[in-house]
Amino acid sequence: MPNYRKPWAEPYKIKVVEPLKVTTREYREEKMKEAGYNTFLLRSVDVYIDLLTDSGTTAMSDYQWAGMMLGDEAYAGSKNFYYLEDNVKKYYGYKYLVPTHQGRAAEHLLSKVMIKQGDYVPGNMYFTTTRLHQELAGGTFVDVIIDEAHDPSSHHPFKGNVDLQKVEGLIKKVGANKIPYICVAGTVNMAGGQPQSMENMKALRKLADKHGLKIMLDATRAVENAYFVKDREAGYANKTIEEILLEYCSLSDGCTMSGKKDLLVNIGGFVAVNDEHLFDELRNLVVVYEGLHTYGGLAGRDMEAMARGIEECVNYDHIRSRVEQVRYFGQKLLDAGVPIVEPAGGHAIFLDAKRFYEHIPQDQLPAQALAADLYIESGVRAMERGIVSAGRNKETGENNFPKLELVRLTFPRRVYTQAHLDVAAWHVEDLFEKRHKAKGLKFIYEPQYLRFFQAKFERLD
Ligand SMILES: *Cc1c(COP(=O)(O)O)cnc(C)c1O
Repeated sequence: MPNYRKPWAEPYKIKVVEPLKVTTREYREEKMKEAGYNTFLLRSVDVYIDLLTDSGTTAMSDYQWAGMMLGDEAYAGSKNFYYLEDNVKKYYGYKYLVPTHQGRAAEHLLSKVMIKQGDYVPGNMYFTTTRLHQELAGGTFVDVIIDEAHDPSSHHPFKGNVDLQKVEGLIKKVGANKIPYICVAGTVNMAGGQPQSMENMKALRKLADKHGLKIMLDATRAVENAYFVKDREAGYANKTIEEILLEYCSLSDGCTMSGKKDLLVNIGGFVAVNDEHLFDELRNLVVVYEGLHTYGGLAGRDMEAMARGIEECVNYDHIRSRVEQVRYFGQKLLDAGVPIVEPAGGHAIFLDAKRFYEHIPQDQLPAQALAADLYIESGVRAMERGIVSAGRNKETGENNFPKLELVRLTFPRRVYTQAHLDVAAWHVEDLFEKRHKAKGLKFIYEPQYLRFFQAKFERLD
């Protein structure tokens, strides 16, 4: 654990600033009402500190912006592609690269090429777009993460680990020939950014080899994972992030990537593999959906920024500040007695709305109300991850009542300073002190699909 008494500062200085609009409580109350108490429906200009997501919200460096001017916008064979290919090889270790416009496009191509109707795809917890593409390709997703991942009070250091017995059980049940690959993510987004240990990945590789199975990594947050391995796993303290990342990826056969997370860009992604035949198929399909295999839906300048982002994100000071910023914020809340999901993950802190707003029953949408109240009090934007996000049961039409009723505060990379975090934490604490006054919400508009994005609500009296 770092020593929090020794002063610490962000490992960058500010060259370009984007002014923040400071608003009054009355103004925000009005805007929240107009947005139907749904933080997704606010305009970002009305937000003071935006902790909605860390996807594509990164501040690029001067080195990346300089690279944007070197964009080679040739239709075929752009020099930026070759530079990106070199860096994927050097830092991730995969032989063949197909760029895509973002992560879900990489998942789309990989799923289409590898999954057949009736297949099963085991994974350490689902991610929304990953699972959807696996299912659209005819597969069935099977969750094989350890049980601790589903328990918000478990302090397991590697809650992203795969339960090998669950994988073995699936192989016994359906046969290895029905499993196109094992899908592994580190860190696990939906588990709150929880890491997978190297030991667990090594054991999974052994098991996969025994049955002739491939492992495909969702490497979107693998650098954050490498930081946790260095910090927590025996034998890794003296290894560099680069070494850990290469070792981790070497245990897989390929990866999909959303560059909008670890790689410090606002748009971009790729799929990378070691098998030449698989590469041929991916390279063939990318032309149909994304663009030629040397740009995959990206401008040359975007590939340049991503290639440079790879070099920057493995820097120890950078990744340490990124993950520790999240932990710092979580620790502040814990010190004030605010209920959060522990341990802090790589990219977000989750408020436990069931305990925060104890007096509001789950069918009065406590997490939705908490996210709305936080915006009104402070201008800080977060998102609901509870009963609203969980939707309705397909058969009965009743609300699903998820075990977890959470509000997610997600931290963009290199965007906010520790002072911003102090302000945001202060407001959460202040709201916690005033929690008894809070009231629940009810739906006044409910869309059929992914209702949390566009639903509208009204205050209950
Ligand atoms: C964001 C994300 C994706 C999807 O990537 P997009 O770029 O948003 O399409 C896939 N996996 C993980 C772990 C992610 O965090």
